[in-house]
Amino acid sequence: MSKVVTKNSCSYCSPLGASLAFKGIENCITMLHGSQGCATYMRRFLISHFREPMDIASSSFTEETAIFGGGENLKRGLDNIVSQYEPGVIGLASTCLSETIGDDMSFHVREYYKKRENSSTPVIIEVSTPSYKESHAEGFHGAVRSVVDKLAAGESADDGPVTIFPGMVSCEDLRYLKDVFNRFSKSFVMVPDYSETLEGGVWREYQKIPPGGTTVEELKRMGSSAGAIEFSSVITDKQSPAKLLNEKCGVDFKRIDIPVGLSNSDSFFQSLCEMTGTPMPDHYKKERGRLIDAMGDSHKYLFGKRVIIYGDEDFTISLSSFLLEAGLKIVICGSEAKSGKFKTLMTELALKHQCTEINILEGADFGDIEDAAVEAGADLIIGSSKGFKLSKKIDAPLIRVGFPIHDRVGAQRVLHLGYAGALNLLDLITNTIIEQRQSKSSIGYTYM
Ligand code: SF4
Repeated sequence: MSKVVTKNSCSYCSPLGASLAFKGIENCITMLHGSQGCATYMRRFLISHFREPMDIASSSFTEETAIFGGGENLKRGLDNIVSQYEPGVIGLASTCLSETIGDDMSFHVREYYKKRENSSTPVIIEVSTPSYKESHAEGFHGAVRSVVDKLAAGESADDGPVTIFPGMVSCEDLRYLKDVFNRFSKSFVMVPDYSETLEGGVWREYQKIPPGGTTVEELKRMGSSAGAIEFSSVITDKQSPAKLLNEKCGVDFKRIDIPVGLSNSDSFFQSLCEMTGTPMPDHYKKERGRLIDAMGDSHKYLFGKRVIIYGDEDFTISLSSFLLEAGLKIVICGSEAKSGKFKTLMTELALKHQCTEINILEGADFGDIEDAAVEAGADLIIGSSKGFKLSKKIDAPLIRVGFPIHDRVGAQRVLHLGYAGALNLLDLITNTIIEQRQSKSSIGYTYM
């Protein structure tokens, strides 16, 4: 029988992804064209992961606006944001309700600009995010694509920066990438960069819009980039910010898997060396060496261990690659995956590593994953905090990575990318396996 309901979804709301992307632009505030409930849900969700203030405005749909359209509410809301926050940019995302009634957001924004033509109006970046059709991942990419559409200017130039589209990664990952560009002595534009806006220090006075993020001036410079790198295994040209930048400004780009693990990190550094004409800095040669050494050390603990992994398509594919490199056996790999590529890519990966027992669940919710997990059993589960119930059910430890992590602190500081990120994950995984073995043994070993 075909599935008619989703039981405990693995993917989240599309404007939620857009709201996260907009947090990576300096002096930007997000507004949702829809009801207050949508904004509250997304704020609550993102605050629990990042543990930072998260203001998201709303055009506050009521029964009346749902019938007659939300244009007036939108314009009044924009006025309120401008007077209260004085933003440089407003990221405007639609919601299920405004999409369902077919409210023309672009028309309302054009009207708004006309009304304010004599005053300074922030840049308004619109993105269509119908959540009944797409997930948070598509919403995130859609928002970044809209930023390119609105702001990228000029033409590709050999002496220009490298634009990097990192996708949905942690604040620590973004800081790692910035450090990489600095060590390559290459200027860059990161879109988006929420490494400070979503993990700031303490303030003497409350900041309505937290400092940090990529500036509008930097975003305009995307157009004159020497090249661009986009992290994704599944994004289509139609969804891709890098493809749009290429069409608009002639910037060549490389699309590679998120650099989690050894081979994915190798691809990233190789692309960067080629794009910048710079040899690999010693720092990363040493980092790579330490990772390979550590993989050797961990192998006896990890080889053949049965693992369940789930999450966003891009992240799950990249992390699976690393788990297989490290000798683990993936028994279940699940994603709510909307791209239609997940099963094919995971099958190729599993074949490459002779992982024959794998059960790839495409379009899966937690109900599907739980059913399969009870049958398969596992030594370890890796994914977001949403897998805790599953972890209890099959008595296997859960390693929290990716997004969201709602039941632990430090989600922003989990490093996944590059050789350093792989080392971090490797230690985490290996020590969890060792701890499990140690605590279940009645002997009390102190050497493991
Ligand atoms: S799924 Fe739709 S209605 Fe629900 S919070 Fe998201 S945008 Fe709002």
